Amino acid sequence: MKQPNDLPCCAVRDLLPNDLEQLTSPETHGLIEEHLKTCASCRAVRDRMREVPGAEPRPADDAAAAGFLKRTRRRARQKALLAALFTLALCAIAFFALVVQQHPFAFTAENVCRLPDGSLYFELCTSGRESGVAGLSYSDGFDADGDYEIRMGYSLYALLSSDADESGTKRYAFVLPAEIVSELAPDGRVCCRRAGRELVIWDGVSPLPEASIDVQQRAQTVLSPFTVLPS
Ligand SMILES: [Zn+2]
Repeated sequence: MKQPNDLPCCAVRDLLPNDLEQLTSPETHGLIEEHLKTCASCRAVRDRMREVPGAEPRPADDAAAAGFLKRTRRRARQKALLAALFTLALCAIAFFALVVQQHPFAFTAENVCRLPDGSLYFELCTSGRESGVAGLSYSDGFDADGDYEIRMGYSLYALLSSDADESGTKRYAFVLPAEIVSELAPDGRVCCRRAGRELVIWDGVSPLPEASIDVQQRAQTVLSPFTVLPS
């Protein structure tokens, strides 16, 4: 209901800028406040005027700004942490792929034969760029099935740091002592395995040719577990 001394909306809106700057008399300020209590549209005009830049910042605004800053900083910190974790994960994956993960050599087995003392002689030949690889991982031993297993591999780092121009194959000569050959399971084989690849060097049953004099002399130079033959 309209009060007897209520100001018209147009007068209130004319006075609002001065009132917000506290330039109106206490009486006029009181009348404007009275009007604003009952007039939503004038209140909306006053609220919009308060938002214009240059208006006195009020404590509530300061608190809101501080809260906003805090949230922004927290988000920035979270982003930086995520980025750091992501980078760390990438480095770990790269390290694993380049240095730890071992890739199988592509071998062929040659000159598989029996030496006079009953030991097994064979040569493993690499192909392609693998001939230039200097560093490799090696292990051997009997597996659960009684097969004698040779595991040779290289890391991508070893491949990348190798001499890529080197061509030709590399020959690894092995002499498997007679005691190991006799320890093979009845159907035990001698094989080279790595990452699901398997090369059967000797199936354990096929008759082996006797080593030639040439091979016998070469076998003399073989150290355990293998020797790289001069090409
Ligand atoms: Zn009004």
